Amino acid sequence: MSESDLEDAQHPRVSEPGGGSHGGGAGGQVPGAASGCEIVVARHAGYCYGVERALGLADDALASGERPVATLGPIIHNPRVVEALSRRGIGVVGDVDEFERGTLVVRTHGVAPEVVAAARARGLAVVDATCPFVAVAQRKARALHEAGYTVVILGEHDHPEVAGLQGFAGGEAIVVAEPDDVPVQRLRGRRVGVVVQTTQAREALARLAAALAPLARELLVYNTVCDATEKRQAAACELAARVDVVIVVGGRNSANTKRLAQLCGEIQVRTHHVESAAEVRAEWVAGARRVGVAAGASTPDEEIAATIARLRELCGAHGGR
Ligand code: SF4
Repeated sequence: MSESDLEDAQHPRVSEPGGGSHGGGAGGQVPGAASGCEIVVARHAGYCYGVERALGLADDALASGERPVATLGPIIHNPRVVEALSRRGIGVVGDVDEFERGTLVVRTHGVAPEVVAAARARGLAVVDATCPFVAVAQRKARALHEAGYTVVILGEHDHPEVAGLQGFAGGEAIVVAEPDDVPVQRLRGRRVGVVVQTTQAREALARLAAALAPLARELLVYNTVCDATEKRQAAACELAARVDVVIVVGGRNSANTKRLAQLCGEIQVRTHHVESAAEVRAEWVAGARRVGVAAGASTPDEEIAATIARLRELCGAHGGR
């Protein structure tokens, strides 16, 4: 089963009133208002397999697990979704120690093994919603550590997925946020093994490998960037190259959404990252003939649809310029 198969099989397609679609499907063009302004949705946008799966597991826990139910940290980096879950009875705790009884859901980013052990030791039921692609990176990190490699993680220092990977690497991994920031002295002459935070760009991994190759005595690189991330990044870049404005929708605390905004911004300076449709401003789309919509893997279909609806209004207001 490939990652592509997973995503395409699991991702819902949302038909647009204009006949287009987004999600794992073909993406498409959505007519704007009377102006003729065209709204183009990235070929791959919105919830990925891991997020769909985690939300489903949290729902299952609420339906049949031991209550109360809480996720360890926000289940996805989208405050609006987290608020909606809270209203339905799925809370959030910041630490295992804050939860006395019930079911603890481990989110897609995963956690260090000792965190799960601590939760079980407290008598909590644990539902592990770690994305299977993150779990692959965790297993690789553990295997590298056990085989005596110095583990390098390409990722964001404070990201929970990276914290979990560090735990699987015995707490001794070196985190590199930028490929150019390799700690040369610590790695020279060592056996070095690399894993990557799943939302990093493949190009960054290539640069890191190139920087490490002349230093390391032995270099083993696992590309653990997930397919869903790559698809969204490729689709967003493709989109940015053919529109006048890009609106990237998703949580500001979502690593993969921020990355989309960054990549689009490098291609199209008129790129704006919003968390909700209401934030889209009329002046952003003034004079635009084509407006693109991209969305991260933690952005619900409803938010993408709302953004399209908002753009329809605004394109109408600025039509024909
Ligand atoms: S972005 Fe990739 S690794 Fe992260 S939850 Fe989605 S499928 Fe899993």
